Amino acid sequence: MKITAITVYWLRIDLPPTVADAMTQLLYWDVIAFKADTDAGISGWGYNCTLGEGSGALINLLERDLGPRFIGEDPFMVRKLWQELYLDRHFTGITGIAAQGVAAIEIALWDIIAKAAQQPLWRLLGGYRSDRIPAYSTDGGWLNYTQDQLVANARSIKAQGFAGFKMKIGKPEAGEDARRVAAVRNAVGPGYPIMVDANGRFDLVAARRAIAAIEPYDITWFEEPVHPFDVAAHAALARSTAVPILAGETMYDPRMFRDFMVAGALGIAQPDVLKLGGIAGWMDVAAMARAFGLKVVPAAHNMMQLDAHLMAATPNGLMMEHIPWLSGVFERPVQVENGFIRVPQQAGAGTDISAEALRRYGHS
Ligand code: MG
Repeated sequence: MKITAITVYWLRIDLPPTVADAMTQLLYWDVIAFKADTDAGISGWGYNCTLGEGSGALINLLERDLGPRFIGEDPFMVRKLWQELYLDRHFTGITGIAAQGVAAIEIALWDIIAKAAQQPLWRLLGGYRSDRIPAYSTDGGWLNYTQDQLVANARSIKAQGFAGFKMKIGKPEAGEDARRVAAVRNAVGPGYPIMVDANGRFDLVAARRAIAAIEPYDITWFEEPVHPFDVAAHAALARSTAVPILAGETMYDPRMFRDFMVAGALGIAQPDVLKLGGIAGWMDVAAMARAFGLKVVPAAHNMMQLDAHLMAATPNGLMMEHIPWLSGVFERPVQVENGFIRVPQQAGAGTDISAEALRRYGHS
């Protein structure tokens, strides 16, 4: 089988004007889709996402530099092709947009392989769950929501059957985070998982203060408390609290996870398939986490389409992150049922983008 053509698409999905975390006001979610056609009549789809900035650069990289060199190649040689690309882009950057471009292509190749095998991707990777995966909700806990909105959302998310409620922290006035967490705990009652996410906003001193103030409310994890590359600060924080530290959504290489794990800086690993260069990088991190006795919670920047396959193939997967922003984009969007994500049963990686979405969200 040979790749005969590649096409890059730019889709822009407007978000409600009310979505913010401690670092960013989110206005839209861009999908940069990569389609590879083959001489077998199979087309594979991969994609990456941005918050808008960087989309043009990513499209240029895919369309002009990285994509064309795959024409004539055998998609089943995905690991070799990825490695060649990795070495060649070393000069351009081993994090950021360069890494993301590689992921979009790698995912398209896996989609071709799974379609050729007539199996859902997770079965090729080795199935662990075949029916459903528990999920927690992120979409009700944005930093700019009022305390009343947070409380109402937490109640609603618990009632829908989700496995937990994640809320952003990092309010300018330190005591406000603790008051908001206390209100949510009071609303959902004891025992229901609440997670907090600072998106890397704090320094070590502020993170220690924050976790000390909210620890009494039974927190399931503290996500990205400090700068995402700061191994020492994560490790120091992990030593000073019983709350598991979760990080990884801003890590671009399995070696970064290794360094965090060796330092005892992670309680739960959060690999991101779009940042780790694709499927193989994510699975590498999941396997490494298992060797370190850690659970894995995927970062849902891919909006769950790929996470559903990855988690169905991962024995140490804890739960999925539920954010539904791309449900109108894919031909077969993941199905949510009583707070669980159904494991996909159709052949491929679930990444086909519908013709209707290309028309509706097409951007240039
Ligand atoms: Mg996060």
